[in-house]
Amino acid sequence: MGPCYMHGPRRERGYRGSRRASRGIRLLRSCLVTLSELEPSPWMLRAFAFAWGAIWGSFVNVVIYRVPLEMSVVRPGSHCPGCGKPIALWDNVPILSWLLLRGRARCCDTRISPRYVVVELASGLIGVAVLDAVVLAMPGESTVYHAATVFLADFGLAMALVAAAFIDLEHMYLPDPITLGGTLIGLATPGLRGLGWLDALLGAAVGFVGVWLPFVVGYKALRGRAGMGLGDAKLTMLAGAWFGWPGVVFAIFAGALQATLAAIVVLVVKGKIEEPESVVRDREELQKAAEAGDAEAIQMLKDDPLATAPGEGVMAARLPFGPFLCLAILEWMLAGPWIADRWLPWLGL
Ligand SMILES: [Zn+2]
Repeated sequence: MGPCYMHGPRRERGYRGSRRASRGIRLLRSCLVTLSELEPSPWMLRAFAFAWGAIWGSFVNVVIYRVPLEMSVVRPGSHCPGCGKPIALWDNVPILSWLLLRGRARCCDTRISPRYVVVELASGLIGVAVLDAVVLAMPGESTVYHAATVFLADFGLAMALVAAAFIDLEHMYLPDPITLGGTLIGLATPGLRGLGWLDALLGAAVGFVGVWLPFVVGYKALRGRAGMGLGDAKLTMLAGAWFGWPGVVFAIFAGALQATLAAIVVLVVKGKIEEPESVVRDREELQKAAEAGDAEAIQMLKDDPLATAPGEGVMAARLPFGPFLCLAILEWMLAGPWIADRWLPWLGL
């Protein structure tokens, strides 16, 4: 025994290994440091949260544009919507590039929708809001690891809601990967929000049935068309999975209130509520295909409630409800405890 040839490399490996391990332990310890021990500077954190949010907002813009077209959200990289040229990194800086180029593409001067800068700015502000309302409101003995996990989960949900809201606004549908995927993530992580598994499951059930039964099935039986889409029911299911049944109740009532206010504003300003352009365009294409005898198009026209032009009058106007549900869920995420403390006693609950 005692072959020296094994000792050299092994000892060296052991030494390096233990250094790596101690670095790992140091990293782990820094994650287990509590918020009060770390005493982070709130303004540094806010600046970071804003930049972080704006960068992800830039990705959310890609999702809003590509998901309805059934394109990959990862590849290829950003292209000019006008001429298809790849966009250079320095022309793709969130918020700043749009402002510096005054809302036009550098390559071909195509107008770039203000939606891009609106989403990036909103996402930056949402990053700051999640930090302030959720993370900085945590008790001092929470670990940095816990705070970071909760921030990432809530921020991720907020970005999914922004994407869903704008897709629904432009195309009047809510993508299943967002509503169903978001529900699954909510069901898997109730502990991050101080909920039990049962709260999350019950909330999801209340969220789906509470909208599907009266507004999809019941309304259709009464008036011959659904008052809300199945996508709305899946979205309130998501609200319940994340925030339990109180989140569902708030989402439906605050969503309806805000949708009504928005409808009044649109009616006063524009005189009528118009369907989004892309919905009208899709329907015209479908009708053309059906007239040409395409069996699939004929069936889709029969099944899809959006396939017939809306009737005249305010009651027949089509306003997507999803964006207002998304807004209400976001409000509950940021201000739920405050709303529950302040308003539930006032309502006698
Ligand atoms: Zn171009």
